[in-house]
Amino acid sequence: MNRLPIFLNLSDRRVAVVGQGALAARRVDTLARAGAQVWLFAENPSDELAPLAGKYRRGDLAAPDALKGFGIVYFAYEPGEQPDEALIARARTSGALVNVADYPAFSDFITPSVLDRSPLVIAIATGGDAPLLGRMLKARLETLIPANYGRLAALAGAARAALAKKLPSQKARLRFWERVYDGPIAETMLAGDEATAKTMLDREIESCRPDGSASSETPAGEVYLVGAGPGDPDLLTFRAFRLMQQADVVLYDQLVEPAIMDRVRRDAERIYVGKRRANHAVPQEEIGELMVKLAREGKRVLRLKGGDPFIFGRGGEEIEKLAAHRIPFQVCPGVTAAAGCSSYAGIPLTHRDYAQSCVFVTGHGRDGPIQLDWTSIIRPRQTVAVYMGLAHLDFLTKEFLRHGADPALPVAIIENGTRPNQITLTGTIGDIAAKAQARGLRGPTIIIVGEVVTLRDKLNWYTPHPEPTQA
Ligand code: SAH
Repeated sequence: MNRLPIFLNLSDRRVAVVGQGALAARRVDTLARAGAQVWLFAENPSDELAPLAGKYRRGDLAAPDALKGFGIVYFAYEPGEQPDEALIARARTSGALVNVADYPAFSDFITPSVLDRSPLVIAIATGGDAPLLGRMLKARLETLIPANYGRLAALAGAARAALAKKLPSQKARLRFWERVYDGPIAETMLAGDEATAKTMLDREIESCRPDGSASSETPAGEVYLVGAGPGDPDLLTFRAFRLMQQADVVLYDQLVEPAIMDRVRRDAERIYVGKRRANHAVPQEEIGELMVKLAREGKRVLRLKGGDPFIFGRGGEEIEKLAAHRIPFQVCPGVTAAAGCSSYAGIPLTHRDYAQSCVFVTGHGRDGPIQLDWTSIIRPRQTVAVYMGLAHLDFLTKEFLRHGADPALPVAIIENGTRPNQITLTGTIGDIAAKAQARGLRGPTIIIVGEVVTLRDKLNWYTPHPEPTQA
């Protein structure tokens, strides 16, 4: 290790920044956020410094002993500017630790890339050799560490004293925290519900055994209701991905692509609970019971759903069940099929010139084609995205026509949207049913009805998502 990382408490300490451009502005900003008393030495502060007015005081390099009395001095030269070696040496002789941006050789310390989840702070340095590499690593960590991780640390910090009183043994406290960081309290905090997490933590401190273990006989399981998006694993959210890594058991259905299941923790148990339209593999009631049972066994249950759990996903019914049984759960949204498929087909769902509203409807009722409020659906300048509509396409298009839609109204059908085998078929309300039949579509399909569909043809050279050419 050629540099020693330390985290300085700078509150109200005097720190000098010499420089007047964008880099100086970045330094002033970071230092002010760390609570330092910042002095800026610049002849002509640039526009970049303007928004920081009030965060620094001005110093004058012409003054004798200008840099005296500063423990730390940053030199922030702009590209092309020559470092003033004499001045740097002077700062150092007057006792300061010096940093000269981009000149590690002149620097007593280097500035790391910082990942700020205060109070959790991660600093990354490459000894000045490859700052970009450090920044790239930081970007990767950003995706791994949930935004509320720092708040979890703060929650724990606030409870330390109370816990020390309850559990004098350090070993017991370790055991306690291990359990908390790995369970529903931490998850509740990470999901942003600080009040509930605090109540849960207080209760846990009160009720835990002297060795730090849980008092209750029933271990604390929980359920993650997670939207996996329409198929492309790149469309998973960071949160979905994280929950997929910590599940003990996963309940999934046929809309969840193998490419997505591949990203679930390897040793998680997998249970297929898929339903096919009108042919329910596992009745919804049983899925609910199963989730409750598994969570009661102390398992972290991942209920993985295609698209978004709350859009034609019966997520509402599932959380009702969980709430009734007081099972902790969280819902993680996903990219819904209409949004994912339309993006990957190059069809904006709304557009200032073509559609000011968009409705999502289901084409399938409990026992067959659905009766919809057609007058509110067939409207000028409105896009209609139909889920589960393929089986009743003939009926649906006839209903459109019967309720006054123009037979030339553009329609797109996107099958297996966002997946490698995505197919987009375009036509009109008058001819799409025959075209779809001729093409033999059968996978999950979204039907998009409205003028916005014509925008796809205007894209010219741009391919939103490669599609296999028709045989
Ligand atoms: N909760 C899901 C929808 C579940 S209903 C969501 O938010 O997307 C199932 C229907 O979603 C399918 O019948 C189909 O209409 C649509 N769908 C899901 N994934 C799809 C995909 N990759 N391509 C096209 N349609 C899809």
